[in-house]
Amino acid sequence: NKEYLLIPGPTPVSDEVYDALGRETMGHTDPRFAKIYKNAIEMTKELFNTDAEAYVISGSGTLAMEMAIVNTVSKGERLLVISHGFFGDRFIPLAKAFGIEVDVIQAEWGKQVDVKEVVNQLKQHSYKAVTVTHVDTSTGVESNIAELIPVVKRAGALFILDGVCATAALEEDLSKGYGADDAKIDVVLTGSQKAIGMPPGLAIIAFSDEAIAAREQLAEVPAYYADIQNWRKVMDTPTAYFATPPVNLIYAYECAMKIVLNEGMEARIKRHENYGTAIRRALIAYGMNPLAKEDVASPTLSCILYPEGIDDALFREKLAERGIIVAGALAHLAGKAFRIGHMGSTTPQMLEQAICHIGEVLEELGHKVTIGAALKAFREVLTVEK
Ligand code: PMP
Repeated sequence: NKEYLLIPGPTPVSDEVYDALGRETMGHTDPRFAKIYKNAIEMTKELFNTDAEAYVISGSGTLAMEMAIVNTVSKGERLLVISHGFFGDRFIPLAKAFGIEVDVIQAEWGKQVDVKEVVNQLKQHSYKAVTVTHVDTSTGVESNIAELIPVVKRAGALFILDGVCATAALEEDLSKGYGADDAKIDVVLTGSQKAIGMPPGLAIIAFSDEAIAAREQLAEVPAYYADIQNWRKVMDTPTAYFATPPVNLIYAYECAMKIVLNEGMEARIKRHENYGTAIRRALIAYGMNPLAKEDVASPTLSCILYPEGIDDALFREKLAERGIIVAGALAHLAGKAFRIGHMGSTTPQMLEQAICHIGEVLEELGHKVTIGAALKAFREVLTVEK
């Protein structure tokens, strides 16, 4: 009678990963642990298809966001924040805290930014970097990065991608040129608790050669723990010490990354696309509307507007009683929508259970639905192995 944690992170953790997490703690500079850590770093580079640099340290996604900014942009320089919601906006106070000049382009919640607006803004100033959230967890919108990357790189800025709700489910390839050979992602960052399928606790980030060069050009950065120069030696030779790494989380991460790479990114991307399509078709069959239109809706989570008369707290409480945990919506959507995660180690069987229970709860709350129709819509896209 396990609960299914279908919030947009943390996400369900597989038994293999829990077993790895529970292994006996070794010393953090023990050569046996160093080998595991090194392997984890190498797999991170493989995931992002880069030979440049990757860092995996204790912290959450927000620390990785901070590492991306402090290591590339300095006080007085300009950053353009492209925001698709709550987490895109987080870069604004974060950068301001370091004295960085910030401009913002915000999409209407549920929509993508207008690329023309970005092109125009990039003509107004010389920007050191641009941030984009790959999937904004508040709205379930996937950003149009294939269009944004070439525009940003043509303007001479670094492209920083927040992959917290996307990494290991969507393509994030640091060697891929978008529109031009040199139009590439410079920094990609994430946390462990979403599509990688691990508990929270790790900040994960990769830098391109161009981004590393940007760090080298900054003599000093206003950080110590978040300064990649302090970690470089450890990532290269993990018997070295800078600050104690979370040994057990690294065991779990090594295990989770093996699962990710064994499945392969091509298969993973397809699986997540199917999850997104299937779950939304089922919920639409219940008369509910996703906030984002299908052509911009994310493979990893969906933000679903309630039909008239459904009480948010009661809906989620009744679902939780049935072992299905979903999240409320953020900011102005609080009470009007819920968010369901469908990523990482989540299985089609878990999602199907969720659909059945959502149907039951909607009925209990007086909203007429046909569970069979929703399941049919779901199964047209996904098969469930019993
Ligand atoms: N960016 C995105 C897209 C997120 O979804 C989140 C967390 N939900 C964060 C950043 C912040 O990550 P954390 O909570 O791990 O600090």
